[in-house]
Amino acid sequence: MSLRILLIGAGGREHALAWKLSRSSLVEHIYVAPGNGGTGQETKCSNVNISASDFPELVAFAFEKNVNLVLPGPEQPLVDGVESAFRAVGIPVFGPTEKAARMEGSKAFAKDFMARHSIPTAQFRVFKSTQYEEAVKYVQTCGHPVVLKASGLAAGKGVLIPQSIDETIDGLRQIMKDAVFGQAGSEVVIEEFLTGPELSVLAFSDGYTIRALPAAQDHKRIGENDTGPNTGGMGAYSPAPVATSAVMNQIMKEALQPTIDGMRKDGFPFVGLLFSGFILSPSGPRLLEYNVRFGDPETEALMLLLDESTDLAAILLASVEHRLDFVDINIRPGVAVSVVLASQGYPGSYPKGKAIEISSVPEGVVVFHAGTDVKSGQLVTSGGRVIAVSAYGENLRQALDLAYAGVDAVKFEGKTYRRDIAHRALAAAQTDNTSLTYS
Ligand code: AMP
Repeated sequence: MSLRILLIGAGGREHALAWKLSRSSLVEHIYVAPGNGGTGQETKCSNVNISASDFPELVAFAFEKNVNLVLPGPEQPLVDGVESAFRAVGIPVFGPTEKAARMEGSKAFAKDFMARHSIPTAQFRVFKSTQYEEAVKYVQTCGHPVVLKASGLAAGKGVLIPQSIDETIDGLRQIMKDAVFGQAGSEVVIEEFLTGPELSVLAFSDGYTIRALPAAQDHKRIGENDTGPNTGGMGAYSPAPVATSAVMNQIMKEALQPTIDGMRKDGFPFVGLLFSGFILSPSGPRLLEYNVRFGDPETEALMLLLDESTDLAAILLASVEHRLDFVDINIRPGVAVSVVLASQGYPGSYPKGKAIEISSVPEGVVVFHAGTDVKSGQLVTSGGRVIAVSAYGENLRQALDLAYAGVDAVKFEGKTYRRDIAHRALAAAQTDNTSLTYS
């Protein structure tokens, strides 16, 4: 088998996927559309100047290059039906159909699904934006603090966590009347506020079998100690020590396998990468949301946790061929972390075109590009999140030391990053000597 892969996207996630795929003996070439300054330099990879939303051009290109596997990175093309554009011409896609992608595209749809299949989740109600008065009445009488969520895709934003009833009503007004999240807020999910550590579980599925990678934790806020506005994610690490094997088994049994079985029963089987967000509440794991693609920056850490003997291309192929239970997925015993370097001002406005210099990094460190571009031979910044520096170590301390040594090796004006990635796990390890390995 000789795979010619079309990888759609331009972020750190896509660079990490390209990096791992390029190591597969099954892979002949990886075309990344549109890619970034890093994907173009990876072995067996080339960038293709086609936008992730231009399906006719992507399909025409795939024909020209005899592409035989498509891997969409971001959610938007999946929600917009990129799978059917390729399926129509017989090219397999590692990624869900438009129908199955609604699990990410509509939080209201996903919550109804969870309720229908008895998957443990936060209590909730859904209101249309025309039902503002009913929604206000509900939050005044439900008797618990709530989280407000615009149902549609809102670029990782769209969730408000109000601190008082006045703030809750104000939040409803912003989403339902002022449409601060645009169309995404035409339905709003009002959900019980839960407490507990959060976990992300990325899992491959072929529609029948689901196989999870070690759980990860990410850092959404721009500032240290989880302060400031939300971002796409400023760093991640895996495995998360709170995800004991008992917790992971419970998550598989109560949430992930029922999801895959339920989607098949409901007529929209899931093939691809299912990324589920959980809160470990005092009464057990609660599923918060589904994403229907690899997470960013979780993927930049997780690709380093896949053992050298584990072939990502073989996993993708086995998934689209519905034989995922026959493929090897071996996980390295240590810990992987990724630290995101952002442009100054992100997630607000930020400058572009700043020169980036990268000196040599220690062994175990990989520099994944996100918002980078090459202009007249010079690597420059071109986005909010610029680079994800990832590292693998035998334990968390070693992985962090390596990652931050890698961070020092990358220089650009305004480089902004958090120095406290994995601080919770580190504190736990220091107080109770947790082994920080996944079993
Ligand atoms: P979501 O986009 O649904 O993952 O929500 C974004 C973030 O909001 C999550 O990562 C949590 O930190 C927080 N969040 C979402 N739902 C809840 C909830 N029911 N209770 C507490 N926090 C939540």
